[in-house]
Amino acid sequence: MIPYVREIDIDYGRCDPVSPLIRRVTANNPGPFTFKGTGTYIVGHGEVAVIDPGPDDPAHLEAILAAVAGERVTAIVITHHHSDHSPLAGPLKARTGAPIYGCAVATHEQADTGEVKMEAGHDLDFLPDVSLCEGGEISGPGWTLEAIPTPGHTSNHLCYALPQENACFTGDHIMGWSTTVITPPDGDMTDYLASLDRIRARNFAVLWPTHGPPIRDVDAFIGAYIEHRQERVEQILGALKAGPARIRELVPTLYADVDPRLHPAAARSMLAAMIHLVRQGALATDGAPGPDSTYRLA
Ligand SMILES: [Zn+2]
Repeated sequence: MIPYVREIDIDYGRCDPVSPLIRRVTANNPGPFTFKGTGTYIVGHGEVAVIDPGPDDPAHLEAILAAVAGERVTAIVITHHHSDHSPLAGPLKARTGAPIYGCAVATHEQADTGEVKMEAGHDLDFLPDVSLCEGGEISGPGWTLEAIPTPGHTSNHLCYALPQENACFTGDHIMGWSTTVITPPDGDMTDYLASLDRIRARNFAVLWPTHGPPIRDVDAFIGAYIEHRQERVEQILGALKAGPARIRELVPTLYADVDPRLHPAAARSMLAAMIHLVRQGALATDGAPGPDSTYRLA
């Protein structure tokens, strides 16, 4: 069982000091993929970085600017290009002059998701001023942010370590309130599992996801997160022992414990697992593994 953490005291627009170097302002965009809303982090004092400014919401922009009144924003820092994370970067840059740091997504290939909204949409206009796709550092007085490439949730996802507090801002890569949606083709389960190992190996004392409260029992949490993915894989392999099947036949049974609103997203996560298992040689299918393919044990 994943030891979820969901307890959080939020008042939209209020600026909460949450550690010596970190403040948080939450946007009023709660939903099935954003929990209580996007938590925008302000790092440092006097000269500050703003991590994941959030959706293009004028009220949230004003709340961020009010929180840093009398200070200078020197960096706008993005974990990934989803519409609940990056769109406010442009308007915040226009008001502060701060450069935008992040990783541009290489391809704009979109999953064919039909009528159903699968997740927060992609911010296809996202283009950082400074590319951190290969890692890199941003610093200010008393703080450093180290970009850690963590592809999986999206191909361009970055986490940011704050060594002064042995902390890490994990975006949507690791969240305390929920597992992460992996949506192919931009999302990739093989990359995702490697990125979990990468963060786990750093032995951070605390993780700050963009949605929800911090994770303080870091190693146990990431361990449970990895186990959860392994269990999903075992469930798929177990179900396919009864014979070949398609994803739409497996989801209602294997995700019976999940909010039905999230079943379409679960189907995309299952596709990500299928692609991973076909790559590993555990499953077979005819042609490239897709949402409508029939899968069988190899
Ligand atoms: Zn996201």
